[in-house]
Amino acid sequence: MKKTTLLYEGKAKKVFKTDDEEKLIVSYKDDATAFNGVKKGSIEEKGSVNNRVSNYLMGLLEKEGIPTHLIEELNERETVVRKVQIVPLEVIVRNIAAGSLSKRLGLEEGTKMASTVLEYCYKNDDLGDPMINDYHIYAMSLATEEELKTIADMSLKINTTLTTYFASINIELVDFKLEFGRTSDGHIILADEISPDTCRFWDKNTGEKLDKDRFRRDLGKVEDAYQEILKRTLGK
Ligand code: 5GP
Repeated sequence: MKKTTLLYEGKAKKVFKTDDEEKLIVSYKDDATAFNGVKKGSIEEKGSVNNRVSNYLMGLLEKEGIPTHLIEELNERETVVRKVQIVPLEVIVRNIAAGSLSKRLGLEEGTKMASTVLEYCYKNDDLGDPMINDYHIYAMSLATEEELKTIADMSLKINTTLTTYFASINIELVDFKLEFGRTSDGHIILADEISPDTCRFWDKNTGEKLDKDRFRRDLGKVEDAYQEILKRTLGK
């Protein structure tokens, strides 16, 4: 299989076509953005950390019966994935209040909530990814009722698997963002990435933030946090 033309360049990744219609190559960049592209920078080795951590976690989820786009890690930064049509939703799963939920609802960061929260945002940079509900999703034909049920069920199962896994490496999985895609035969599978860019990870003992919030909030030791996640997940 050969990498051919650049299909798409996003804020954190490039996606290339290959000579196989059904496969793409994702290449992870060190570029970092926040607040819908307003804050820009770079995090050394971020691409390599996110690629390897995401592939490791997707492998773990596959073992639990969650279908993902992962096919094969090619090298430190590049991975072969199944081509999908991305469902234009950001699915956010929250176990502990933080970030935009804390601001919106006036809950102090770190507040334990009685149950898990699932949120949907419309994936649209021009609009700043506004939060929407299931009625908007059907009204705008972003996903069918059956697809959204699959997405919600899979998101909650992913949360159970990942929360248990991260607890085993002494990390609190505070919240995270998922994206799903449709395969050519119409199945919903997990796509995009699961990494310190897309999750909030807090050390269970110290509460130290080990994710992109260090970049968003200028907390320093950004690279160290990404390396710590790599070390705890892959033992590297
Ligand atoms: P919040 O809505 O609190 O800003 O984010 C909730 C969770 O989803 C955080 O773990 C955050 O990293 C992730 N998240 C939400 N929107 C985005 C996004 O546009 N890009 C990335 N990389 N992560 C996001």
